[in-house]
Amino acid sequence: MASYREYYRRSVEQPEAFWAEKAALIDWHRPFDQVLDSSRKPFSAWFRGGLTNLCHNAVDRHLAQRAQQPALVWESTEVERSRSYTYAELHREVQRMAAILQRHGVGQGDRVLLYMPMIPEAVFGMLACARIGAIHSVVFGGFAAVSLATRIDDAAPKLILSSDAGSRAGRVVPYKPLLDEAIGRASHKPRAVLMVDRGLHPFDPVAGRDLDYAAECAAVGQPQVPCTWVDATHPSYILYTSGTTGRPKGVQRDTGGYAVALSTSMQDIYCCRPGATYFCGSDIGWVVGHSYIVYGPLIHGMTTVLYEGTPVRPDAGILWRLAERHRAQVMFTSPTAIRVLKKFDPALMRSCDLSSLERLFLAGEPLDEPTAEWISSTLGKPVVDNYWQTETGWPILSIAGGVEALPPKPGSPGVAMPGYKVSILDEASGQPLPAGKKGVLAIDWPLPPGCMQTVWGDDQRFVDTYWSNFPSRQVYSTFDWGVADEQGYVTILGRTDDVINVAGHRLGTREIEESISSHAAVAEVAVVGAADALKGQQAMAFVVPRDASRVADAAGREALSGEIMQTVQTQLGAVARPARVLFVGMLPKTRSGKLLRRSIQALCEQRPTGDLTTLEDPAALEQIRAALAEQP
Ligand code: AMP
Repeated sequence: MASYREYYRRSVEQPEAFWAEKAALIDWHRPFDQVLDSSRKPFSAWFRGGLTNLCHNAVDRHLAQRAQQPALVWESTEVERSRSYTYAELHREVQRMAAILQRHGVGQGDRVLLYMPMIPEAVFGMLACARIGAIHSVVFGGFAAVSLATRIDDAAPKLILSSDAGSRAGRVVPYKPLLDEAIGRASHKPRAVLMVDRGLHPFDPVAGRDLDYAAECAAVGQPQVPCTWVDATHPSYILYTSGTTGRPKGVQRDTGGYAVALSTSMQDIYCCRPGATYFCGSDIGWVVGHSYIVYGPLIHGMTTVLYEGTPVRPDAGILWRLAERHRAQVMFTSPTAIRVLKKFDPALMRSCDLSSLERLFLAGEPLDEPTAEWISSTLGKPVVDNYWQTETGWPILSIAGGVEALPPKPGSPGVAMPGYKVSILDEASGQPLPAGKKGVLAIDWPLPPGCMQTVWGDDQRFVDTYWSNFPSRQVYSTFDWGVADEQGYVTILGRTDDVINVAGHRLGTREIEESISSHAAVAEVAVVGAADALKGQQAMAFVVPRDASRVADAAGREALSGEIMQTVQTQLGAVARPARVLFVGMLPKTRSGKLLRRSIQALCEQRPTGDLTTLEDPAALEQIRAALAEQP
């Protein structure tokens, strides 16, 4: 077995040779002319001139050997159903979906927005877009009308694929009313809305716009839709993610680099075998779902499990039973899911035959040591942390167990993955810091294949947001604090910006603030993320009301706090709803008017507030302290 050090060294010192070799893991219709086009730094274009197709690599190329192997297995504990599709069947379904898209004018480069529950048609939709060179943008089903409308306007989709409803913890969650409201709010209007009617929630189709999936399937029959060969740099999808502003960024991903990076990760990080089963419990609305429910496992010729349900229904043994039923080789979930399961009897896990399971991967948020210890000892299998972002599409830090099984270091997701020239920089000067010193985790150009190409429709925003944070050097900022040790293991110490992470869901505090500000009774608001034992963080809102008399007593505070929470839920979705809304007379700010969020957060977490020399009025912090102590 090669050594990790040698493997990593080569990946960063000879990136072109390294990735040219990895490119052989996927099929190319025409070879690329150039491994890395560095003519437009900090942009990087991988495998330019090469023609390929993500859907071909995920589906068609396996038909020769795996036509009868299950490709996609759908399990729903929400509607008590399951369905399984072999590679041959998936090929048919995807061609049908592609034909429907084409029939309604969707072609190469057109956007298709998916607002879908966790059902097979969502996967068909993603793959069908990739097949015909259309660009998909999946919006998490937990987002509500305002979040959705912003994304519709930014991506300007020609068609939207949606469904009548999802289901969460046994409760039907209608999608169609939110979608209609979002389209009503958005300036951009899609030409068509393709509705998968699950029969969960009746709806009135909009004449001339809404299409019925079943009727469309009948109309196209069993068509053959060949893959459209696209340049490796052709965008495959846009996935919106939160940042410092109230306006989410469309992370744009390429085609060839993504396929090569995912293939590399399936082999070198996830240690997967083609033909085996991969069970990732994420959602297709997040990057983990894109990379490790849909594209990664399928490109690697595996069976992937698509799960509609929670980890605790009908009981807390469900994830393990699904792993047993499908003989999963690998499972992937979030630390929050494990913290939830930790409250239940481990016998639910132990009663399952998990002999097929080789590794459990956890990502999306920091993995605390007690949770890591509990799950490793209870499961009795290696538990591997992996740290990455929507922007990178695959792990930055982990253990490349397929290369060398380095020992894990408690509290650290691991060491740098291939191609990521990771360093820890001083926040102010941008100078690299030695081991043991906390700084900003940055990545030198070039980002490896698979990472974001740009911000959709806004190259300048890509440069300004990610590559312009340090005076002396143009490096990519992850916006995470980190500290490295002498061996290169990095520990993540939270975000440097106003992004919070609730149960592995990334949320922008500014977006939540904007939503709260839209309530007529709100004069000012600050939202921060405070540590939470179960969800990692929770959103806390501090509100200055326009009329203080409204919150003079407990009943008034409760009423207004309920209204504010409902406003966020209606506009952005339940995921963004703050856990607590507290009322104050003023917010702590610097003399130049900047909110002192880090100090508010420190108070919420009962930590020292740090340097307060710039604070305009100390009474504001006292009010936060008092609100935390006195208001429920
Ligand atoms: P997202 O783009 O939604 O995947 O969120 C990415 C952010 O989640 C990162 O910038 C980190 O702040 C956090 N994150 C993801 N994975 C980990 C991990 N394994 N350990 C610590 N933080 C993580």
